[in-house]
Amino acid sequence: MSKKILVLPGDGIGPEIVVEALKVIKRLQDDFGLDVELQSGLIGGCAYDAKGQPLPEETLLLAKEADAILLGAVGGYKWESLDISVRPEKGLLGLRSGLELFSNLRPAILYPQLASASTLKADVVSGLDIMIVRELTGGIYFGQPRGIKTLDNGERQGFNTLVYSESEIRRIARSAFEIAMKRDKRVCSVDKANVLECTELWREVVTDAVSDYPEIELTHMYVDNAAMQLVKAPKQFDVMVTTNMFGDILSDCAAMLTGSIGMLPSASLDANGKGMYEPIHGSAPDLAGKNEANPLATILSVSMMLRYSLGETKMADRIDSAVNQVLDDGIRTYDIFTGGLTKVSTSQMGDAVTAAL
Ligand code: NAD
Repeated sequence: MSKKILVLPGDGIGPEIVVEALKVIKRLQDDFGLDVELQSGLIGGCAYDAKGQPLPEETLLLAKEADAILLGAVGGYKWESLDISVRPEKGLLGLRSGLELFSNLRPAILYPQLASASTLKADVVSGLDIMIVRELTGGIYFGQPRGIKTLDNGERQGFNTLVYSESEIRRIARSAFEIAMKRDKRVCSVDKANVLECTELWREVVTDAVSDYPEIELTHMYVDNAAMQLVKAPKQFDVMVTTNMFGDILSDCAAMLTGSIGMLPSASLDANGKGMYEPIHGSAPDLAGKNEANPLATILSVSMMLRYSLGETKMADRIDSAVNQVLDDGIRTYDIFTGGLTKVSTSQMGDAVTAAL
């Protein structure tokens, strides 16, 4: 039976980059027998405009029925002044929590062809291959109570809550250990256990959970040091596991090591391997409509989808090889262009990958 993919282009550059990923899927369907059925839906600002909410009921329903979800990006200037409860980003958070997509995999891989596109020295980043496993449905982004209140003296006070239960910590730790078992078997857990009780518990539970994985080498690092080490000696890391907010920040930092945020895919998985796949970047309103954005992060998200949710490893390998081929051929969007190569648009990059397939 065909596997169902729900496609959610979203806002800004979302629709432009998703179209390129769809060209790749179509080529795999036409020429290599990929058996998938595509559906589409609204999320984010465009959903708010059409339906009055960033995550319409029908989108959540389609997402629950799908085997995997491909998302572009959400958000933009137009919706910034809306009440926080209906802002585009709420749609994304709602989808992640509604589907219990608690494990966010964010690889930071430096393609050797792009070593000179990184802001760090080539010898510091060449060969870089880190997997950041970010907890996605808990922590301070979801904790209650939260809000802005007015104190007795008339001053306003903003507050959020960092909260993790033992079971939430244990399942993300196990997810990281499972991934590390397929890699170099080294996991660095990142916390702020010297200051935050919540992450003191995090460290205790992660340390306990590793006893089921005797082959894993587990280390711990405070988040401030981890940020420093990521730019100082990033190749020391294999898998990093951390909380929602720390992972959000560290993965953008790791992204830049690779040359461009436009290169990095991500997967958000539930306990059964169902997942949502999206580039790690946002809707880049500064690029929207210009046909300049790099679609490779979205195309590589399709590769991750085939690998992690659809069991189509060979098809995923085909996409990875095609992307490598295109980079070998010197084809670059503006964000990874370093001169002496061929500068292409979003759609030309999608065509080049499709041709390389
Ligand atoms: P962003 O990731 O959209 O952009 C940051 C910078 O990276 C910009 O200079 C942009 O031009 C560049 N960039 C992003 N994607 C690129 C690509 N594919 N190719 C080349 N360059 C690229 O982050 P931001 O500017 O902080 O946020 C813009 C909007 O996106 C906001 O509304 C934010 O809330 C939203 N956002 C959405 C997601 C998501 O949908 N998952 C993630 C982050 C931010």
